[in-house]
Amino acid sequence: MTITKILIANRGEIACRVIRTARKMGIATVAVYSEADAGALHVEMADEAVLIGPAQASESYLKADAILDAATRTGADAIHPGYGFLSENPGFVAAVEKAGLKFIGPSASAIRAMGLKDAAKALMEKAKVPVVPGYHGEAQELVVLAGKANEIGFPVLIKARAGGGGKGMRKVETQAEFAAALSSARREAKAAFGDDRVLVEKYVATPRHIEIQVFGDHHGNVVHLFERDCSAQRRHQKVIEEAPAPGMPEDMREAMGQAAVQAAKAINYAGAGTVEFIVDASDGLRADRFWFMEMNTRLQVEHPVTELITGLDLVEWQIRVAAGEELPLTQDQLSINGHAVEARIYAEDAAKGFLPAVGRLAHLEFPTGDIRVDAGVRAGDEITPFYDPMIAKVIAHGRTRAEALGKLAGALGRTEVAGTVTNTAFLSRLCHDPDFASARLDTGLIDRNLDSLTAKPPMPEAIMALAALAVSGMAPAGTAADTVASTIGPFEIWGTPARRLTLEIGGETEEFTVQRLEAGGWRITAAALGDGAILLNDVAARGHDWRFTAGGVSRRCRLIQSEGRVTVFYEGLTHDFVKPSGAQCGEQAGGGDQVHSAMPGIIKQVLVAPGQEVAAGDAMVIMEAMKMEMTLAAPRNGVVADVLVSEGAQVSDGAVLARLEAGVKAA
Ligand code: ADP
Ligand code: ADP
Ligand code: MG
Repeated sequence: MTITKILIANRGEIACRVIRTARKMGIATVAVYSEADAGALHVEMADEAVLIGPAQASESYLKADAILDAATRTGADAIHPGYGFLSENPGFVAAVEKAGLKFIGPSASAIRAMGLKDAAKALMEKAKVPVVPGYHGEAQELVVLAGKANEIGFPVLIKARAGGGGKGMRKVETQAEFAAALSSARREAKAAFGDDRVLVEKYVATPRHIEIQVFGDHHGNVVHLFERDCSAQRRHQKVIEEAPAPGMPEDMREAMGQAAVQAAKAINYAGAGTVEFIVDASDGLRADRFWFMEMNTRLQVEHPVTELITGLDLVEWQIRVAAGEELPLTQDQLSINGHAVEARIYAEDAAKGFLPAVGRLAHLEFPTGDIRVDAGVRAGDEITPFYDPMIAKVIAHGRTRAEALGKLAGALGRTEVAGTVTNTAFLSRLCHDPDFASARLDTGLIDRNLDSLTAKPPMPEAIMALAALAVSGMAPAGTAADTVASTIGPFEIWGTPARRLTLEIGGETEEFTVQRLEAGGWRITAAALGDGAILLNDVAARGHDWRFTAGGVSRRCRLIQSEGRVTVFYEGLTHDFVKPSGAQCGEQAGGGDQVHSAMPGIIKQVLVAPGQEVAAGDAMVIMEAMKMEMTLAAPRNGVVADVLVSEGAQVSDGAVLARLEAGVKAA
């Protein structure tokens, strides 16, 4: 059967990615979207688009019936699930097929077979695929599991059988810590997956995550498209992925490829899938030191690195397979060309423990040239707390690993995002990290080097001064001086015009005085400037491009002023300045009267009401931001004066959520 119109049951970059290939193949596309995504890029790109519900994924992108209804109404004949959401939901696959549509992915039974890690491991053992030593049986009692952990030998890893995204996983070093780790893994698993059953595995020493891309068709053919190395991880989540795996011996590639094909064949797999292995790299890569962890029965986030080294379009293969075609190539027609690396750009604050962030992307420019960028947003779009905060994937290809990494680092330096904080500086540093650059990889690399990877980049004084000049509104013609009102002044110093203003830099408030000099140029004064002041000359701006001279050196940068912020892109780094609004002078937590949100997010639960007495540390509000949940506690003993938010409200970073009455009531 031919596929003529595909509905993409997803959003963001993967929806855009699928639409691109469908268009190339002459296939029409239908987007579905939530109320929060009405203006989203994937909606604009698709031929047709259908609104399926409110922002919450559970009310839209996870609503199988609304999606099927959209497919029927638009006459789509196939559904591509992307990754996440309904992509690994066997019930959805069955419903799609029952509606007479093609599901662009594996069968419901294949997904079910790999859906739970314990059952998948049992199945793989039978198929003679090496699995991580451990216990994945029925028993769940503490004594049994603790006993198994002893037999396996510490350290062990407790894993939620229904786990994903690194959740419900605890590394346990000693027997003494086992019980506590087990209950906390169970709690997390219950909350995230509604299933608190776990398995216990040997924690592999010097672990490397190496996975094999497999592909099957409906004619019994299965091939592998080599490996990807995803050892650069944080909290068991991938940060940078690459292909091929550095240092991979040919016999090991062969063995892993074969094991992955065996795994796929054991479940009659059709479509794109990834078999994830954990590798003991304590003694280099060896053909007998890899074990099956899990199989992801979908297209993977990091599939582009495989595309770049094989020259293939995996989405095209998915569509062809779903249409009933045979795989386009056989195993011996496949080969590896060069090296590819992908970095995931997220709206998150690496310096604040990678807190997810939100914001309107006031400015967004991706690197051009010999670089691939898979993005799901454009300038002006908003990163909301409802979905994954990934902004884009930047992917580089080179003849060697060093060349690919060099291109990636260069591309990250040319990535300009204003309006939210991103992890690009962290990613650039990772590219240059001596261990990473020389491929001394294991999954602990990022944690070990976290301090240097997340250190705040030094702020060049000239850039600080230039930001103040831009905000002063006194800068030369042609600049966007939208913020004169936020400055104090003008006044005069020795007969020349001057203004005073404050900017927040890395959480610290800095006072600046900007003075136009009679002889031309500017004198910017601030305590944070080494000599107390700095001179800027020959300042000229054309749009966002600024040129200026400081310390006798002519420099250039890009400077963007957006709502409450100035963002400067200079020598590959992003420098953010916040213009204080003057409105929020509330006390900070720690004895104050107010409860603030520590990050942008959604209020899940309000636990107090006005008039209620609270003790210091009592939970007052529970909020959720992307993948995290946090409890905000009373800063001191007192009585709740008012609650400024209600459940479901969206709040920004630093917003006041509740207030206590002044003074402490005697108990
Ligand atoms: P992968 O295993 O493909 O690399 P990750 O493990 O990084 O994916 O992502 C964790 C989970 O979150 C995966 O199940 C993935 O499908 C899902 N996910 C990641 N990004 C998004 C997104 N933008 N939209 C929906 N789901 C996502
Ligand atoms: P998820 O479904 O959350 O992706 P995985 O089983 O794929 O769970 O494991 C996620 C990550 O945890 C792996 O990429 C690896 O870094 C680490 N990990 C998993 N199992 C082991 C193990 N047995 N030993 C060491 N690290 C492991
Ligand atoms: Mg995994």
